Amino acid sequence: QLILGIETSCDETAVAIVKNGREIVANVVSSQIESHKRFGGVVPEIASRHHVEQVTIVLEEALRQAKMDIDNIDAIAVTEGPGLVGALLIGVNAAKALAFAHDIPLVGVHHIAGHIYANRLVTEMAFPLLSLVVSGGHTELVYMKEHGHFEVIGETRDDAAGEAYDKVARTLSLPYPGGPHIDRLAHEGTPDIDLPRAWLEPGSYDFSFSGLKSAVINTVHNAEQRGDKIAPEVLAASFQASVVDVLVTKTVQAAKEYKVNQVLLAGGVAANKGLRAALTAAFSGLKDVELVIPPLSLCTDNAAMIAAVGSILYEKGKRSDLTLNGNAGLDITIHNS
Ligand code: ATP
Ligand code: MG
Ligand code: FE
Repeated sequence: QLILGIETSCDETAVAIVKNGREIVANVVSSQIESHKRFGGVVPEIASRHHVEQVTIVLEEALRQAKMDIDNIDAIAVTEGPGLVGALLIGVNAAKALAFAHDIPLVGVHHIAGHIYANRLVTEMAFPLLSLVVSGGHTELVYMKEHGHFEVIGETRDDAAGEAYDKVARTLSLPYPGGPHIDRLAHEGTPDIDLPRAWLEPGSYDFSFSGLKSAVINTVHNAEQRGDKIAPEVLAASFQASVVDVLVTKTVQAAKEYKVNQVLLAGGVAANKGLRAALTAAFSGLKDVELVIPPLSLCTDNAAMIAAVGSILYEKGKRSDLTLNGNAGLDITIHNS
């Protein structure tokens, strides 16, 4: 079974081909980061225009790498949401045009389900499992009892983890996207500044990062007013320590309470070295739970992860028709069967 995946939800135009849901045959990502850098964030209009320019080129490159023709493909999986609606529409329309012209089944996929299924390109999933999703727009703990079943047991009440990283980076005048820069700086400093950790109500698996973000901004401004300058590496290390502490503690608690067999790390912030190391250390003591962490290239947006979900949905018989539309606020529970 060969699934072609298409992803255009944000600022990466990506096409991939995945065999039997697990094996990457081709994986092409065209990033627009350079075009958005000078604005300090993704500009939706610019994103859409780039997708229009890139989608055919990226598709042809994926087929070329796979040494395949579009008629070899069993189904086309495309991100239908969530994301920027104008960006989503480019991928959805490209997928519909291909599906219609070549009479290939079409399957709409949830972007966050994609981030979670990036792990299936690493190892087979073992249910029940828990996924810690940490990305630019999402921070959630997702419980899965079987393929296609997604239950959000906790989520952020304000900023996503990646968003907090990017805002703190901006405060430190680091380029967009700031996550990798904060991560690098954090390893050069010690976490000497005591920053808040939002544990919320006992037993809650929700998150909150806006208080932490404000605390970082206040720390910088107060120092400036005193005529001081806080070492950016110390601030980055302290911020990262707070984020990682809360993420890891809640994930371990949930993994125990839900008695899961696996914990899957997912989303762009899964590329964070501090988070990867802390999770690895925490789960090395939990012998009954397998921790899976994807390689960096599968953490940030790509289409192989979309094809991986598409493979399962296609097997389950899910089909989208030509009325498929981009849906900026798509709910992950729609894939539940
Ligand atoms: P979503 O998946 O929620 O729709 P998105 O697709 O924009 O959002 P991703 O591409 O999954 O987000 O992740 C991008 C985010 O990951 C950015 O906020 C970026 O700063 C962050 N990020 C990437 N690498 C790192 C890192 N090493 N440390 C921390 N954050 C990182
Ligand atoms: Mg991106
Ligand atoms: Fe993403």
